[in-house]
Amino acid sequence: MQYLDPSTAVPERVHAAFDTLADGVVVLDAQARVMLANRPFRALHPEGGAGDLQGRALSELKWLPRHVAGENTHVPWDQVLRGRGSGPDERMSIAQPDGSRVEVVVRAAPVNDAAGRVRGCIVTFHNVTDVHQANDQLRQTLGDLERTREQIRTQNEELRRLAMRDPMTGCLNRRAFFDAAGELVANALARNEPVCCIMSDIDHFKGFNDLYGHSVGDQVIQVVARALAANIRNIDLLCRYGGEEFRILLPNTNLADACAIAERARVNIENSASAAIRDVQVRRITSSLGVATLADGAASLQALIDQADQALYASKEAGRNRVTVWANHPAT
Ligand code: GH3
Ligand code: MG
Ligand code: MG
Repeated sequence: MQYLDPSTAVPERVHAAFDTLADGVVVLDAQARVMLANRPFRALHPEGGAGDLQGRALSELKWLPRHVAGENTHVPWDQVLRGRGSGPDERMSIAQPDGSRVEVVVRAAPVNDAAGRVRGCIVTFHNVTDVHQANDQLRQTLGDLERTREQIRTQNEELRRLAMRDPMTGCLNRRAFFDAAGELVANALARNEPVCCIMSDIDHFKGFNDLYGHSVGDQVIQVVARALAANIRNIDLLCRYGGEEFRILLPNTNLADACAIAERARVNIENSASAAIRDVQVRRITSSLGVATLADGAASLQALIDQADQALYASKEAGRNRVTVWANHPAT
């Protein structure tokens, strides 16, 4: 306390002791004049070392902010010298000539005399620039990580979609169909729910390849796939089963509805598929279809599929471009 008098020179050994501290330290008298400012404080800005600070007000230092971060009204030492005691640690951001910033945590504590009057104030400046930079870096890394995770998620979804779909038509491939259909039929059998299966095959398809070439043949397959997809619900499974063969599984669907769906698809293909082929005028496209229902006694997905195949075969035998129900044509 005896040093809190601006007219008294602070002994060199006191300066030396303060200079060894890691934090910037400033001792102010009751009038907020600098009694002592150690080297780490002056090192907070290139102009910090210029001139003798003793007896000057901190507010004279142009490089030292007039307020703490998030506030524009006060500096902690003013509060302390007004007798309001130490507030919380405050953050201060000191702009450097090169555009960077030095971030410090400022703490001000009163120096009281024996009567408890505030005679001065000790202010410490703890440099946390490295911590800030590390935090910024961490935030950026976390952001990058989050973006990468999102990309991987989207790519995985796309991979999953690609792995499940036939690239030419977008229909389910056989593996994805069997995965989904196996579970669906097992559940339906356990709960006694109606499920139907439609098998569809393009009539005289080889002729399209022979007449118009393979690429037109591909277009025919795509057009037929679209016609079949247009007729079904989201929960139905549409699979490209082989070259020009498609299989549809209809959960919670009775035979009459399945036949109606199959017939609508047949009519749709017959009436509009060939007109949908670009570039060349092709002959009429038709499909034959076979329908089977779990209700007719199939005990497994495979048995249901076999029945639909037999019904399809019957459609072909009977002249093509028609729908046949297995129940009417049991295996011979
Ligand atoms: P049917 O009325 O009895 O069904 O006669 P079809 O000619 O349609 O029957 P078939 O099974 O003999 O012919 C199927 C042809 O489909 C044989 C094959 O060359 C062709 N094919 C299989 N996959 C593709 C494909 O991805 N693109 C094209 N363009 N042709 C394919
Ligand atoms: Mg075929
Ligand atoms: Mg065919």
